[in-house]
Amino acid sequence: MEEKEVQKFDVIVVGAGPSGVAAAITVARGGARVLLIERSSAAGTKNMIGGAVFLSAVKDLFPDCWQEAPYERFINSHTWSLLGDDTSVNISCDFPNENKSASIYRSKFDSWLVQKAKDEGVYFAPSTLVKHLVIKQDRVCGVKTEFEEIYADVVIIADGVNSLLAKETGLRHDYDPTDMVLSIKETHKLSREVVEERFNLKKGTQQGAARNFIGGLKLEEAPFALGFMYTYLDSISIGLGVNLNDLSALGLNPSDLLERLKEHPVVKPIIEGSEMLEYSAHLIPEGGYKKLPKLYDNGVILAGDAAGFVNGVHFEGTNFALMSGKYAGETALSAVKIKNFDKKTLKLYEKKLERSFILKDLKSYKDVIENLCKRKDSLMNYYPKKAAEFFRIFTGASCKPKRDEFRKFIADFIGQRKLRELFKDFWAFVSSVFGVLK
Ligand SMILES: Cc1cc2nc3c(=O)[nH]c(=O)nc-3n(C[C@H](O)[C@H](O)[C@H](O)COP(=O)(O)OP(=O)(O)OC[C@H]3O[C@@H](n4cnc5c(N)ncnc54)[C@H](O)[C@@H]3O)c2cc1C
Repeated sequence: MEEKEVQKFDVIVVGAGPSGVAAAITVARGGARVLLIERSSAAGTKNMIGGAVFLSAVKDLFPDCWQEAPYERFINSHTWSLLGDDTSVNISCDFPNENKSASIYRSKFDSWLVQKAKDEGVYFAPSTLVKHLVIKQDRVCGVKTEFEEIYADVVIIADGVNSLLAKETGLRHDYDPTDMVLSIKETHKLSREVVEERFNLKKGTQQGAARNFIGGLKLEEAPFALGFMYTYLDSISIGLGVNLNDLSALGLNPSDLLERLKEHPVVKPIIEGSEMLEYSAHLIPEGGYKKLPKLYDNGVILAGDAAGFVNGVHFEGTNFALMSGKYAGETALSAVKIKNFDKKTLKLYEKKLERSFILKDLKSYKDVIENLCKRKDSLMNYYPKKAAEFFRIFTGASCKPKRDEFRKFIADFIGQRKLRELFKDFWAFVSSVFGVLK
């Protein structure tokens, strides 16, 4: 009987999202043989973003051709809206001359990334599901797909938030629902002119806008949830990320929550007359630094969402994915060069992450989401309503003395909330800020 040829690469990367592609390209650029495996027939079809990709990381990986990527709009305007029942207090910033992030469709953007990887010598295997790892003598030395075993000196696991492979290595365990956000998103078709008019964008350009919504769900027991909206050329996305634990405690369907946001009197006119093109849902790992898994072991490295690299406060995930992928690729390459693939060699990955914004940011933000979650009723219900009340007095002439109105406002503010609760809110805020800055 003819013996089947054994396939062997220097490095195998599982998952062709931003982290996987960045890892594979980095390895290929260093001259090693790398196979990138993706379960979908085309990259990006199973992936999700709100969303905007952060351009600093794209520029870092593609200094000569980052402009060629299929961007929809550059996010030059960002608004945070505190929603009361029928009010909105907004903080906006416009950067008309700066392109720091861009809205993208994952199917187009990820395909562009994969094409770049193939151009640079990466072997790409689409429609291939990695079912297991090949582990021999306490070392990962390949993958098992539906059809065959493929071997490599290093396997980079970049298969996203539900990484079954990371669990198989024992590096990661199941996430606690408290550390997970379920994000649901709809894409709505609107004409290009209407998008530009509703978001006050310069006509016929790629200027774009993003909005985040806090509160406005009209629930007595508010979950920890944040709404978002991004502009594309001739469509917009609207979505909501909600803590998984809070969602199950509420017993509500995530789409019910999104409907509540869409029905808010400030949000409804923005999507009026649109046609829904797409609905999707995806998990985001937001456990942060305290819940990070072990990031490497003999012959294996975790990158991107599979490692839990997301900064939920700033909606940052793609930049963490691209840069952690790059560091994983560099580490694999060093191991290939010295022909040593054990965990002592791969510790270099952790050192690179520690020197970069990835572990620095995750460390300094380690308490922020937890602090905010504990004060979710204040954040999602109380302050958005109080902010609206304040601005009602400030901007409206009621023919009553302003002094009386402000005094009543302050008395209610303290009376309804109790000093102890206000102090806890204040402390959560101060300790979060202090944590980030120290
Ligand atoms: C609703 C939402 C909004 C977001 N908005 C933003 C935003 O605005 N800005 C931002 O920066 N980030 C945002 N993020 C986060 C960002 O999308 C992720 O952090 C980023 O995509 C992670 O990249 P990744 O390569 O690690 O994983 P993924 O992009 O999830 O890619 C993993 C890949 O692995 C493949 N795969 C999985 N299992 C296997 C297997 N066994 N075999 C083969 N292939 C496999 C998948 O098909 C997929 O292509 C958002 C996320 C969500 C859900």
